[in-house]
Amino acid sequence: MSERVVIIGSGPAGLTAALYAARAGLEPLVFEGFMAGGVAGGQLMTTTEVENFPGFPDGITGPELVGRMRAQSEKCGARFRPEDVDRADLSARPFALWAGDEKVEAQSLIIATGATAKRLSLPSEERLWNRGISACAVCDGALPIFRGKVLVVVGGGDTAMEEATYLTHFASKVVLVHRRREFRASKAMQARVLSNPKIEVRWNAVPVDALGEKVLEGVRVRDVASGAESDIPASGLFYAIGHTPNTALFAGQLERDETGYLVTRGRSTHTSVEGVFAAGDVQDRVYRQAVTAAGSGCMAALDCERWLAGA
Ligand code: NDP
Repeated sequence: MSERVVIIGSGPAGLTAALYAARAGLEPLVFEGFMAGGVAGGQLMTTTEVENFPGFPDGITGPELVGRMRAQSEKCGARFRPEDVDRADLSARPFALWAGDEKVEAQSLIIATGATAKRLSLPSEERLWNRGISACAVCDGALPIFRGKVLVVVGGGDTAMEEATYLTHFASKVVLVHRRREFRASKAMQARVLSNPKIEVRWNAVPVDALGEKVLEGVRVRDVASGAESDIPASGLFYAIGHTPNTALFAGQLERDETGYLVTRGRSTHTSVEGVFAAGDVQDRVYRQAVTAAGSGCMAALDCERWLAGA
């Protein structure tokens, strides 16, 4: 027997879709993810304080918010499997999904696989990954190797501001390297960085390599105007340069835009395949907030429920 609704992903989009689908009596099955998206529960799991999710005037941690969303959808009847879907065949209905060797059939599918942090692909990146280089300050910043050390953060968006500020709790100094002379981050978050005496900004600079044999010992940066290279002695290098949508699983099966985001129809969550819906960061390159992801998860469940009723 095939599942009526399968949801892939367990961030705010997937969990809100699960809540609505469960309340509609569709008994959704949620593949929570294991490794594919970096961490089950999505990017909120690696966020400290969430101050902009409505309803929490004192803020709430990312993991607690995700935990509450999960508990709520489970209470309403959603079922969870702590696995990745590693193959999908959307060419016929019911759709076929594989988690390892096991095949699951689904009459409808909600994709909420989110996005993954980008890397710079520096020559020494592979060797020094997790030996000083990380794409998540909030996950790794408190590790002993970073305490009391100089740490470098790359990027000029809100994530870079947040991570640089966060790392000042552990670092002796944070050097924020940005490729332009202007941040794209919100004014409030920029102000926090620019007024922090432990953060030094290196404008118009890009990392060209990571230095060190066994552990990171420094970062070589190039001035984009002069081309001059210089080394920043540092024990940590944190990437905060944006994200790539997790859509490789659906390549050639669903319409994607030029950067890989799933394309949805008009203001709905319908993808290019009937019965397949997309919600959250996997289809949103613009807003990318927990609350907008949750909102689009709700939309996907409603679209899906209506589609199933008419299918
Ligand atoms: P963004 O895409 O906003 O910023 C990425 C930054 O990395 C940009 O400054 C960009 O430079 C730089 N960058 C990209 N590629 C490279 C590269 N190859 N080399 C060097 N620098 C590079 O991503 P964020 O993750 O910061 O933010 C994503 C979304 O999440 C935004 O909408 C943001 O507002 C939101 N957010 C909100 C938070 C909050 O409100 N608490 C916290 C974190 C994120 P350039 O500017 O030159 O393009």
